[in-house]
Amino acid sequence: MLKIDNLHVKLEDEDKQILKGVTLEVPAGEVHAIMGPNGSGKSTLSYVLSGRDGYEVTDGTASLDGEDLLDMEPEERAAAGLFLAFQYPVEIPGVGNMTFLRTALNAQRKAKGLDEVSAGDFLKLIREKAKDLKIDADMLKRPVNVGFSGGEKKRNEILQMAMLEPRMCIMDETDSGLDVDAMRLVSDGVNALRSEGRSFLVITHYQRLLNHIQPDVVHIMSNGRIVKSGGPELALQVEEEGYGDLVEAG
Ligand code: ADP
Ligand code: MG
Ligand code: MG
Repeated sequence: MLKIDNLHVKLEDEDKQILKGVTLEVPAGEVHAIMGPNGSGKSTLSYVLSGRDGYEVTDGTASLDGEDLLDMEPEERAAAGLFLAFQYPVEIPGVGNMTFLRTALNAQRKAKGLDEVSAGDFLKLIREKAKDLKIDADMLKRPVNVGFSGGEKKRNEILQMAMLEPRMCIMDETDSGLDVDAMRLVSDGVNALRSEGRSFLVITHYQRLLNHIQPDVVHIMSNGRIVKSGGPELALQVEEEGYGDLVEAG
């Protein structure tokens, strides 16, 4: 599924190397977490995978099902099945959530060579998904994220994910506003969408999030590299002992 090999990334405008050889493989159906101290390069990794400007890959590769991701435009990455929870605009005044989701879904279908989904089918689909995820239908009519609470934004992210049915979901949960309820929403959403053919890479500072998600593998990132990988117990170790020894060991 997702395969990252020896990825080196620097800032485009500055002589600053941020990722210094990240190697990571997330097989189909697995949930992997990346933890690590502030500034270790976690968000940079997710930005580079999303195709954000400002970064330069100086070495290494990243592929999804054998297709080179780094070579694709952001829309092509989405069509290939990659979903980045933070990829969509934070607020879009004047654009209803439904319209937005339908546009996103149709853009994805177009890139795959499929016909647009009809208004009726779309409505049926979104109502089903919202119901499964216990999302209030009122939220669907409001402008995208405008006036949404932190929890509603998270709920919306999960709904986007459910609608676009990605195979590889990358979530960067460094938001310091992630309170206990929002954390619950994210973990319930991930658990509801977990399936054999779908993988998750959940980036987080918070061990607590992983209490609810139960990752298959936990990776610790430090100074632009993965310095240790292990089972869920690694997250517990971080909670108890902090990063100290793990990071020095790397
Ligand atoms: P994390 O998400 O693990 O906290 P980041 O990926 O945000 O780490 O940052 C890694 C390092 O790269 C930090 O030292 C950060 O200051 C630096 N960095 C990332 N993006 C930029 C940027 N656009 N300009 C300057 N420094 C940056
Ligand atoms: Mg940071
Ligand atoms: Mg970050």
